[in-house]
Amino acid sequence: MKLLEKLETYKTSEKIALKCENEKLSYKELWEYSENLANYLSKNLKKNEPLVVYGHKNPYMIVCFLACVKSGHTYCPVDTSISPERLNDIVNTVKPEIVLSCIDKEVDGFNTLTINDIMKISKENKKDCDKNNYIKEQDIFYIIFTSGSTGTPKGVEISYESLNNFIKWISTLDAKKNGQKIYLNQAPFSFDLSVMDLYLSLYNEGELILIEKDIQSDYSKLFDRFKSNLINTWVSTPSFVDICLASEDFNDKLLPELDTFLFCGEILTKKTAEMLLKKFPKAKVYNTYGPTESTVAVTSIEITQEIIEKYDALPVGKPKEGTEILIDNEEMIIVGDTVSNGYFKNPVLTNEKFSIINSQRAYRTGDKGFFLDDLLFYSGRIDNQIKLNGYRIELEDIENNMMRVDGVSKVAVLPKYEEDKVKYLTAYCIYTKEISSKLKAIAEIKEELKNYIPSYMVPKKIVFIEKIPTNNNGKIDRKKLMELGDN
Ligand code: AMP
Repeated sequence: MKLLEKLETYKTSEKIALKCENEKLSYKELWEYSENLANYLSKNLKKNEPLVVYGHKNPYMIVCFLACVKSGHTYCPVDTSISPERLNDIVNTVKPEIVLSCIDKEVDGFNTLTINDIMKISKENKKDCDKNNYIKEQDIFYIIFTSGSTGTPKGVEISYESLNNFIKWISTLDAKKNGQKIYLNQAPFSFDLSVMDLYLSLYNEGELILIEKDIQSDYSKLFDRFKSNLINTWVSTPSFVDICLASEDFNDKLLPELDTFLFCGEILTKKTAEMLLKKFPKAKVYNTYGPTESTVAVTSIEITQEIIEKYDALPVGKPKEGTEILIDNEEMIIVGDTVSNGYFKNPVLTNEKFSIINSQRAYRTGDKGFFLDDLLFYSGRIDNQIKLNGYRIELEDIENNMMRVDGVSKVAVLPKYEEDKVKYLTAYCIYTKEISSKLKAIAEIKEELKNYIPSYMVPKKIVFIEKIPTNNNGKIDRKKLMELGDN
């Protein structure tokens, strides 16, 4: 059954669908409110073009997502953690007729419905939306923007059909099949990992616990939230569970109902998996792999003690049904029924990365990989894309934006690795402005940079150097720079 059809079967359910600190919505409310808002959008908007939904972990964001697709509009989620400039970039690329802002603030220069308008329309405009307006199988369900090497983000288009294929598969990994289910939502809705928990939960009439950003860095609040919401299915980046594992109290006494861990988005280390198996002996731990361009994830494997002992690094598993992974010159190519149609309004990049293989859509991932014992292993990148705390970042994206800072005439950004994972970023730059205090200059650069890129992309260390080493091709010699250290 397709997602919207399934949700309709819960339309009288009083079960909680979504819950954050100060707000919760039942399935009945979610269905009704999204119908009402969809009806309003159908009546008041001229075109069936994408709409931006702006906000952070508010259940009404999901009302907006559903209202968009019920009224035939693709939605594009944007989290508030993004820089003002990047918000502008995205909104100016999408050019939505209206921005649905789930905070009490308009988006400058655009027609905006703010949270108060949204709540009012959702509750008072009691009228169902005409089902003929619902999004169709081949239509784009959502667009998620991700870091682009040119310095501006690119929008990945995912169709309703791809999303349904993904949900069907990911549901098979969920251990608890009956009874009340509680799911963890860690990732912001602008990051495609959230698609895993959001639609897995909604499809299975689960209760999704939205954990706000400020709570994620505060153990006492975070663990209190866990105590009052006994999660069954955990969906997060490995980096987030590592933060939790740093506390002794993170174990099956805190979360006795936890039976499934689903990880995606970056390397799951053997150390993390081993600690989880010890602290949660009854739970299953899954490593899944995939890019936004192929609807969250396309491979999976249950990580057991046996697997940990057998391999040097953990495998990412076997491709799901409907997906094939080819290896071309070490690079993984994903072929199958969840591959995106391409990048929004970007035919050049779409042609570069996407193609048709055996009558199916195919995506060149830029990830290196190999098969061993029928299992896929991820072995790094062919380019300068990295993952930092689960966030996907093109190093050139930071470099291009740093060049906009007054005084920066050349720059190279390098990741610092610890145990195969990026710990932080260092920017080596030639700075031509006169400096009275190095610390002050660095603080100023970081501050200015925050206007252009999200704060998670701002390098932790900035090192001033006189010359950036280049290789024979005139390209930055990253190896040589790495050898310089960053102290
Ligand atoms: P994103 O589009 O943000 O989900 O990032 C996709 C990229 O994250 C992939 O192309 C990989 O480079 C990396 N990635 C995703 N899952 C894994 C995994 N299980 N292990 C290692 N890297 C991963």
